[in-house]
Amino acid sequence: MWIDSHCHLDAPEFDADRQDVVRRAVAAGVGHLVLPAVAVAHFDAVRKLAHQHGASYALGIHPLYVTHAADADLSLLAEALTRHREDSRLVAVGEIGLDHFVPGQDLARQAYFYAAQLELARAAGLPVILHVRRSADALLRELRRKPVAGGIAHAFNGSAQQAAQFVGAGFKLGFGGALTFDRALQIRRLAAALPETALVLETDAPDIPPQWLYRDAAQRAAGERSRNEPAELPRIGSALAALRGWTPAQCAAITADNLRQALPRVRALT
Ligand code: ZN
Repeated sequence: MWIDSHCHLDAPEFDADRQDVVRRAVAAGVGHLVLPAVAVAHFDAVRKLAHQHGASYALGIHPLYVTHAADADLSLLAEALTRHREDSRLVAVGEIGLDHFVPGQDLARQAYFYAAQLELARAAGLPVILHVRRSADALLRELRRKPVAGGIAHAFNGSAQQAAQFVGAGFKLGFGGALTFDRALQIRRLAAALPETALVLETDAPDIPPQWLYRDAAQRAAGERSRNEPAELPRIGSALAALRGWTPAQCAAITADNLRQALPRVRALT
């Protein structure tokens, strides 16, 4: 069974054909999806979608959404984590983290929300799903102050040293569409060399399209679609398998088992 450890099924890009998107994923052999939330307004949607489709979900406030989040949203997150504490499909706090790549962000506010959400994850005893973009060192620094029950550094694109530090903090590293690009040398090198127990697979759908779905800005302006979806996961996994010298079936089994270790509540759901 393939597991997509990071899929934004609640995104508006899927409004027109969400049922078909899930059906295609199941038909492709993707047996489980993890649906992280990005803002309080999405909490109900990811929870309902997880229950509807046999998936699991995470609750959290994404670093690129903190500008529009109210301080009270942290209390709403705390309440939601308490209210759904017994929900076996609530598997993590996420998507939380820091984005030091997208220009014009309020980095102090990101740091405040990140630290507060690590505390909530600690209180809930849940792992976290981390958004890491040019921010690995800052994320790791705060994790040393506020250790959590591990989790996933999603769409990982850091150095080998940073990868080792996340692994040392009990994290798995999420790899997806980016590793399918021939020019993504650093990511492909990492995906090939990291301990096999460190790797989980993700699509980050509708984002991070693999090479075969990628359309450049001019093509997108001409109306060509580059939407990613969870049914692409096995093909992305086959690219990882080729880098590792695994069969696709081995890759599915290894990465699914790693995911169950990173998010232990998934074990009972799969
Ligand atoms: Zn995401």
